[in-house]
Amino acid sequence: MADEQAGVPADLGEAEVRAAKLRSELQHHGWRYYALDAPEISDAAYDALLRELEAIESAYPELVVPDSPTQRVGAPPLSAFEAVAHAERMYSLENAMAPDELDAWLQRVQRESGGRSIGFVCELKIDGSSLALTYEDGTLVRAATRGDGVTGEDVTANVRTIRSVPLRLQLSASDPGTAGRVEVRGEVYMPKASFERLNAEQDEKGLPAFANPRNAAAGAVRQKDPAVTASRDLSTFMYQVATVRALGLTGQRETLGWLREAGFRVNPDIEYCAGPAEVRDFCEKAVARRGDLDYEIDGVVVKVDSFAMQDELGFTAKAPRWAIAFKFPPEEKTTVLRGIRVQVGRTGALTPVAEFDPVLVAGSTIARATLHNEDEIRRKGVLIGDTIIVRKAGDVIPEVVGPVERLRDGSEREWCMRAECPSCGSAVWREEGEVVPRCTNAGCPAQRLERLGHWAARGALDIEGMGPEIIGRLVEQGLLHDVADYYALTFEQLAAVDLGRTKKDGSPVLLGETVAEKLLASIESSKTRQLSRVLFGLGIRHVGATVAEALAGAFGSLDALLVAPEDELARVEQVGPKIAESVRAFADNHENIAIVRRLQSAGVSTIEERKSPEREQTLEGTTWVLTGSLEGLTRDAATAALKALGARVSGSVSKKTTYVVAGADPGSKYDAAIELGVRVLSEAELSEALQSGVVPEAVE
Ligand code: NAD
Repeated sequence: MADEQAGVPADLGEAEVRAAKLRSELQHHGWRYYALDAPEISDAAYDALLRELEAIESAYPELVVPDSPTQRVGAPPLSAFEAVAHAERMYSLENAMAPDELDAWLQRVQRESGGRSIGFVCELKIDGSSLALTYEDGTLVRAATRGDGVTGEDVTANVRTIRSVPLRLQLSASDPGTAGRVEVRGEVYMPKASFERLNAEQDEKGLPAFANPRNAAAGAVRQKDPAVTASRDLSTFMYQVATVRALGLTGQRETLGWLREAGFRVNPDIEYCAGPAEVRDFCEKAVARRGDLDYEIDGVVVKVDSFAMQDELGFTAKAPRWAIAFKFPPEEKTTVLRGIRVQVGRTGALTPVAEFDPVLVAGSTIARATLHNEDEIRRKGVLIGDTIIVRKAGDVIPEVVGPVERLRDGSEREWCMRAECPSCGSAVWREEGEVVPRCTNAGCPAQRLERLGHWAARGALDIEGMGPEIIGRLVEQGLLHDVADYYALTFEQLAAVDLGRTKKDGSPVLLGETVAEKLLASIESSKTRQLSRVLFGLGIRHVGATVAEALAGAFGSLDALLVAPEDELARVEQVGPKIAESVRAFADNHENIAIVRRLQSAGVSTIEERKSPEREQTLEGTTWVLTGSLEGLTRDAATAALKALGARVSGSVSKKTTYVVAGADPGSKYDAAIELGVRVLSEAELSEALQSGVVPEAVE
């Protein structure tokens, strides 16, 4: 997976420096995590750094040192506890960070089995702390942490307080487990609810919160006073018997059965899988139900069931070859910040955007994330060239968490916002009390592009197919200056738009007739959007989608809104003085009004679709299309009247259209109606329908 890591240096010297830095950084975090139960970075970020080191070490094996964090399991025991030598080494697990890595492991196991069919046991990977319990002649004599795998810490007094740990094995006298020494392994964990309660208590006492239930559980097991452990509500899931051969068990499935019988708590969601397809299925389902469990899991552990097969596969220095931990998609990764670019918004706001080496985070590759403003950059303390931690907030929006400061080598640079707009070079202005500077030039080309894009965007007028590339070309070719220009575009103009690329024969790639036709249809149907969307699309400062809805609902038409005094605007719910002032400023600008008038004369509806409460919705379920010019009433008025009776009014004719009203000089919609067999009504029939609320049969 090296391709999704910060790259491996091409030069040995550089690799050596980076590896040494990574090692010392990982050692620091390992110590915070294993020894103090107080991590400073997330597991995902730690894993990302570890993987980078692994990638470097595998490219340059001469750089591997015995005490590298890649070669070790956990940390040596704390001197506060007595050291315990494990009967058999306690291993860590190899990780599969993505489905393709799991597949590679499944294939490898399959290959090494030489064609024999292999059964797997899939277990949830409990995000707790490893525990080894030793029983002598059926009685618990010792409990130990994993430590570095060879030596752990004696935590017997504490573990005795955990109720799910049997102090005596519940086996019949004939079971071999009742005689001699048995070492059982598993996970001690803290349920989510207990973890939340504990952190609330910590907060009340003014103590720092635990980073996650895993560290809270590990901390609780390693208390000096067993009474504290007892109060922490810990539980266990056991999954392994180290001395298993003595018990005559032959596989993992059988072992789990034995553990249950002996009185241990065994996770109920373990499944036997007959082959790779079932394993994949289990992993997929586990990802989906992760949130439903009352304890944290961070993956699935897939184990080869048969002990004979496990013996054949053996171990690496750190982990068994017969098991793998399929880790859930990590929310965090590390990468290198290459630069910060300033983006100009449609209202001139200048936003710094982090540009970093592409990384795969939670299922998709990201390469940039907004840094919001200069203050935020200072607060996060990121420098150009830093190794940074990135994630997706709410699993969607890329976000820079912060730098890994100890990985700096002195070449990193601070970033400063320039005093001029990167698009037009105009002066930048930061209003008092605002964190965002703005470009003050209303004609700034970057702002114009953003405004045009915003109008065509989904939440606004939704002109399907009108993306940034085409908009950019139309602006360049002088066909688009403002949003009203969309409605003046002709078929010929669109079809001939030069996309700036050349064909093999050297001729320019043009937009073409098919796309032009589709775009024209999209532009046409955008004319009948709700008023709230038009308002939102105009991009008035502070008027977002919700405020636009409130304003549209209160005023009913764009004209009424544009003449409303500021105090009247401010009285609308969700609209305070700041928004009212902004709407007034927009309406007082004659250039804006000129654009609105051009939109209206192009046929863009600027009236709110309102169902009339007094009138019965007799036209509900019918779809109307208007074409040609009407004499008695305007298009907008006809549209509003139809909607008041519950009808839908559309911009284009399809099989779903119920009626097409043809005024004078009807256009192509009339032909489409004839072709599709849609009933065509005259203006007189429309008027009658509006008055009576009754319509003729849809099909003549
Ligand atoms: P691991 O936690 O990834 O996997 C091995 C462990 O899984 C086993 O030791 C066992 O305790 C546990 N496990 C849970 N359910 C199991 C099951 N059903 N069968 C078998 N084992 C099961 O590896 P690790 O070596 O214990 O620790 C590495 C973890 O610690 C990583 O997740 C790493 O991110 C984290 N870590 C974080 C930091 C930090 O600073 N945040 C520092 C060091 C380590």
